[in-house]
Amino acid sequence: MLELDDALSRILSTIQPLEHETVALADAADRVLAESIPSPLDLPRFDNSAMDGYAVRAADLATANAEQPASLQVRGKVAAGGVFSDNVAAGTCVRLFTGSPLPAGADAVVMQEDTRLDPSRPDRVWFLAAVRPWENVRLRGEDAKRGATLAEGGDRLTFGRIGLLGAAGLFELKVSRKPRVGLLATGSELAEPGRPLQPGQIYESNRAMLAALVKRAAALPEIFPLVPDSMEATRSALESALARCDAVITTGGVSVGEFDFVKAAFKQLGGELNFWKVAIKPGKPFVFGRVGRKFLFGLPGNPVSALVTFLLLARPALARMQGASDPGLAQRPGTLTGPLSNPADRRHFMRVAQDHAGRVRPVGAQASHLLSSVAQASGLVDVPPQTTYPSGASVVVLRWDG
Ligand code: AMP
Ligand code: MG
Repeated sequence: MLELDDALSRILSTIQPLEHETVALADAADRVLAESIPSPLDLPRFDNSAMDGYAVRAADLATANAEQPASLQVRGKVAAGGVFSDNVAAGTCVRLFTGSPLPAGADAVVMQEDTRLDPSRPDRVWFLAAVRPWENVRLRGEDAKRGATLAEGGDRLTFGRIGLLGAAGLFELKVSRKPRVGLLATGSELAEPGRPLQPGQIYESNRAMLAALVKRAAALPEIFPLVPDSMEATRSALESALARCDAVITTGGVSVGEFDFVKAAFKQLGGELNFWKVAIKPGKPFVFGRVGRKFLFGLPGNPVSALVTFLLLARPALARMQGASDPGLAQRPGTLTGPLSNPADRRHFMRVAQDHAGRVRPVGAQASHLLSSVAQASGLVDVPPQTTYPSGASVVVLRWDG
C-alpha cells in the first residue's frame, strides 16, 4: 500500500504542463498565469487626493483651529481626470475631489468637512484645523512601484489579482490552456438519470459530480456515454476519450473484481500504468496512467471514494497541468463541535461542514456510499490512523468549495 504523499508526488512529477493561450483580463478568473507580470506603472501613477477637499501647504495651516481658523485664497478647481497647471503658492489652495491629482507645491489635502465657506468672500476658504504633511494624499507608487512584480507565473488569478492587473493597465494575459477532461463511468448496473430504472440498476451520479469538480478546477469536463462492464466497451470508450481529451477520469472498475476492466483496457491501448492501493479512507484503489502526453485517473466507483480521490490526487494533477505553483486544496482551521474518530489503520478523510465562524461539524455516517453527508459537507478533515479528535479540538479543514 502506498502513502498518499508518495502517490501524489509520483503523479505531480509525471504531469506535464499544457501550452499557453492569451485571454482577456475579464475572462481570466481562476486561470493560472503563465508568466510573471512586472508593473508597467507606478500605482497610483501620481500623488492624488483621498478626499473631496482642498490642496494646501500644510505649513500655512500650522496654527489653524476652530476658534482661530486660517483663511486661504482659492486659486482653482481640479476634477478627477483634470490637472492644475500652476503651483500652489503660500497662502493659496486648490479645490480637489477624490482622485484629483495633487497640484505641485501642495503637500496635504484638507477634507471639505474641516472647512467653511464665507459667502461674502467666494474666493477664500476658512480652515478649522491644522493638517499634517501628506495627510489625505495617496502617494505615487504606494500600491506598487513600477517594475514591481504584480503576480508570478503559476499564480491562480483571483479576482483580487485581476483587479490589481487591471489597475496597472493589463488587458490580456498569457495563461495555461484549460485541460480538457473526459469523464467515463463504468458499471453495467448504471443507468442515465432521466431514464427509467430496470431491476438492479442505479442512477449514475459520478460524472455530474466530477463535472462540477472539474469546472471548479478551471478545467473543461466532457461527459462520455456510460460504459458497461466489458473489455471491449471499456477499451473503445477509453480510446475515444483519450483521443479528445488531455486527461480521462474513470470511475469504477479498478478493484480486483472479475468485472474490473479499466487497467487491462488501458494497457491494451499502450498506456503505462500505476495501480496503487493508496493508504487512505475512503478510496483505496486508484489508477494513474500515462499514454504519451495524456493521463488516466481511475477512481473507485463508490461516489464518496470518487470524490475524495479526485480531490486528493486528480485535482492537484489538473492544477499542475495548468502550471499552478500551489496545487493543493485551501486549508482552513476550525474547532470541532463533535468528535471525529478513526479506528482504522489508514488516514481517514472525514466529511465535515464548516460554518462561517470556523466551527467544524462532523456530518454523521462516513461510509463511502453515503452521499447525504457529502451534500451537507464543505470539506475534509484528515484523521490519522487509530486517532480520535475530541469535540473542541482544533483541526484543519481541506475545503473543497474554495
Ligand atoms: P466499483 O468500484 O465499480 O466496484 O463500484 C463500487 C460501488 O460504487 C458499487 O456499489 C457501484 O454500483 C457504485 N458505483 C460505481 N460507479 C458508480 C457511478 N458512476 N454512480 C453511482 N454509483 C456508482
Ligand atoms: Mg463497477
